[in-house]
Amino acid sequence: MTHKIAVLPGDGIGPEIVAEAVAVLHALDLDIALQTAPVGGAAYEASGHPLPEATLNLARESDAILFGAVGDWKYDTLERSLRPEQAILGLRKQLGLFANFRPAICYEQLTHASSLKPELVAGLDILIIRELTGDIYFGQPRGRRSAPDGQFAGAEEAFDTMRYSRPEIERIAHVAFQAARLRSKKVTSVDKANVLETFQFWKDVVTEVHGQYPDVELEHMYVDNAAMQLVRAPKKFDVVVTGNMFGDILSDEASMLTGSIGMLPSASLNDRNQGLYEPSHGSAPDIAGKGVANPLATILSAAMMLKFSLRETRAAERIEAAVSQVLTDGLRTADIWSEGNRRVGTREMGQAVIDALRGDAGSGKTILTTS
Ligand code: NAD
Repeated sequence: MTHKIAVLPGDGIGPEIVAEAVAVLHALDLDIALQTAPVGGAAYEASGHPLPEATLNLARESDAILFGAVGDWKYDTLERSLRPEQAILGLRKQLGLFANFRPAICYEQLTHASSLKPELVAGLDILIIRELTGDIYFGQPRGRRSAPDGQFAGAEEAFDTMRYSRPEIERIAHVAFQAARLRSKKVTSVDKANVLETFQFWKDVVTEVHGQYPDVELEHMYVDNAAMQLVRAPKKFDVVVTGNMFGDILSDEASMLTGSIGMLPSASLNDRNQGLYEPSHGSAPDIAGKGVANPLATILSAAMMLKFSLRETRAAERIEAAVSQVLTDGLRTADIWSEGNRRVGTREMGQAVIDALRGDAGSGKTILTTS
């Protein structure tokens, strides 16, 4: 059966890194049909909307979406609904992509690229599971108004609404406990139950769901403590599950433990296993067009796509092994470069992965073991 993949390169470095991931996919012997469409700022320029109907329809009809990144500072003055970032929020909402998987793995070869001491990150392998379609990012009402009461009554104010329903918490908790069963059977649920009603509810519901997974250990941690523990003793964590906003922040923090955000893939899945696969980083306008961006996070996202949505586990493992091989060979883009290694650009790194694939690199680091 032909796998249908929507390719949405987006803005900034998006097209450069997606091109490398597409080349890697073509180098595999797979029955795939790829179709490209504009998204984000590129789509806004072309048709006046960051998520045109045709792009959304293509995404809906595909088995999986390979996404680059969207955004540029030049769109910051646009009305919010037209900003590039709305495309990604729209895709998540429209496709029901509620479960975001972000592995933070420190490759042995990159231990020294981390901002933490090597002994703190060597062997690090955390999976952050972030709820992606609820929380304060989507809660209504939101807006600006004249403050109705309080010390500053009458002054201009802005507000958002944090909310979670029971089914939203239950389904992400199940995802986390099931993922933990395939790893070291430990889940840390991150909340702010000491201050927020929403997260006291989160904690209560996660605890209830845990009743169905007696073989998995559950710990609860406040988000401020989790932020601290991630840089103090990150290897204490295995599966971390949290809400949309806390997950946004903690997964970026975790990414730096691994050396570079340019190394980290991500997957966002719905309940039909349809997924959007993208690097954890943004469109990096500061380096766009220079040919220096690290394409490995996107290439590894393609590997996650093969594993999760397309059930092509062997092909995914070949990509992961090839990435590990190029790192062992000492190839480094600028973001992960250190003395004694060979500095390469985006194209050269992508080509090196293809060369390693053709040489069929040995077994590499497995990014996720949940297939
Ligand atoms: P960013 O992740 O784009 O960049 C942060 C830093 O990391 C920059 O110094 C950048 O050069 C570097 N970097 C990122 N990816 C890299 C790679 N592959 N190789 C080497 N270096 C890399 O975050 P930002 O600067 O805060 O945001 C830039 C734009 O991206 C904004 O418009 C933002 O809204 C958008 N954004 C989009 C997404 C998405 O599309 N999912 C996610 C985050 C940010």
